[in-house]
Amino acid sequence: MEAIVSLAKRRGFIYPSSEIYGGLNGFFDYGPLGAELKKNIRDCWWNDMVRRRDDIVGLESSIIMHPKVWEASGHVAGFTDPLVDCKASKQRYRADQLFFAAVVVDGKTVGYVSALESENTAGELQTAAEALKRKKAIQGTLAAVAPRDMTEAKPEEIELIPSPATGEPGSLTAPRSFNMMFQTNVGAMTDASSVAYLRPETAQGMFVDFKNVTDTTRVKLPFGIAQIGKSFRNEITPRNFIFRSREFEQMEMEYFIHEDADWAKCHEEWIAWCENWLKSIGLPETHLSRYAHPKEKLAFYSKGTVDIMFKYPFGVQELWGIAARGNYDLNQHATASGKPQDLFDETSKKKFVPHVIEPAVGVDRILLAVLCAGYAVEDVTDEKGNTEQRTVLRFSPRIAPVKVAVLPLLKNKEPLTNRARALHAKLQRRYAVQYDDGGAIGKRYRRQDEAGTPWCVTIDFETIEKPGDTFTLRERDSMKQRRINEAELFALLEEQVY
Ligand code: ATP
Repeated sequence: MEAIVSLAKRRGFIYPSSEIYGGLNGFFDYGPLGAELKKNIRDCWWNDMVRRRDDIVGLESSIIMHPKVWEASGHVAGFTDPLVDCKASKQRYRADQLFFAAVVVDGKTVGYVSALESENTAGELQTAAEALKRKKAIQGTLAAVAPRDMTEAKPEEIELIPSPATGEPGSLTAPRSFNMMFQTNVGAMTDASSVAYLRPETAQGMFVDFKNVTDTTRVKLPFGIAQIGKSFRNEITPRNFIFRSREFEQMEMEYFIHEDADWAKCHEEWIAWCENWLKSIGLPETHLSRYAHPKEKLAFYSKGTVDIMFKYPFGVQELWGIAARGNYDLNQHATASGKPQDLFDETSKKKFVPHVIEPAVGVDRILLAVLCAGYAVEDVTDEKGNTEQRTVLRFSPRIAPVKVAVLPLLKNKEPLTNRARALHAKLQRRYAVQYDDGGAIGKRYRRQDEAGTPWCVTIDFETIEKPGDTFTLRERDSMKQRRINEAELFALLEEQVY
């Protein structure tokens, strides 16, 4: 992760927000390459999800909505995480990410240990338990630790559990609910009547505008409404770079189906669609897996949720959640607003409230996944037998921030630079391309490898001296070179960048 974070900063993908003021925890800026990469992810999703389908329409709803939306949706009462404070260090923890275990020697509890959730929480707790036994010079057999998180701590245990910040017990508080919605005030008054929220998800926009869409377009069930936009959550512990941040971007789609439709089949189809889409932007199948939420952990209205998980360097984590939500949301808004959210069934001549399948994913989490999956450092040997290291980002051409770099072999030979400029200008009308004439050609290739550019074309003497107007095309992954003309280059791009 450290290498990826540092490359992301060095090459202008991602910067800490407001860095000159020390940064702001949980907020990030996307630099020139990052902004392109993010836009490409969004565009690929929008094209595949909305434009290339006849059954899905797009929406852009406002970030600040009527506060009643969030009462009806359940967010005001229930969008909370359990929070634990350390009174000594002033650190805050998410109770479900702070683990502890009793240290049991010969069947007797002799103390407690704690650790923050990691790839190896149980191992860390076991090591801490052994250390505590040694420190207290207790003889006997240490039992294997049984990790629990702080939401499972009994009241009498809480003051015995050491804070991860100080290593001492006595400073942790009991878990309490913390609402993650950011509050603001609308208008000049700052009293209770003006309170509003920054949306914690984009999904409610689709429910609230359900009737607007069905009344103003010709959509027929089954159909979907899709939206891309910023969401905000006051996460207690933002972490793992852009994986969990406080301002992030979501791509969500609500797929409405008849109340009698086979929801399980539709759910499965959408899970498969999402997996295929992730593969289409270059994520390897080996890094993807599924996690079905156990029935007893689902919200009462939920029929099922499956998360597509990604193997990040810090562990296997949720990337995309696909939830079958019944018709809970539309019903909630119908009750709260007094406006029916139903459709008329021509066959049964009855009104009904559609059910919904919701695939919801974060753009930033996808971007982090493609950075992690694409990152490689490898030894390469040149024609002279010299070995050196190259860093490469193997982005799919679909999402690569720069598609082609145009390189004149020499910077001060006009026939070369004129041809290179002309090609660059022509490519620029359709694609994100870069013109680079600085330094040795090998150096320029390395620069583009680090930016994840799939192809470099070099305008060399053969281009201007021999017939055919061909350039050297150099492929990022194989590093192979071949000659190609302009028409062939455009055909290659047309096929690979879509
Ligand atoms: P988590 O359990 O990781 O907090 P969640 O289950 O609350 O996520 P959802 O409410 O289902 O997430 O949101 C849908 C998607 O939005 C997630 O799958 C994830 O890709 C993205 N997402 C949610 N919270 C964040 C965040 N704090 N930072 C970045 N992306 C997020």
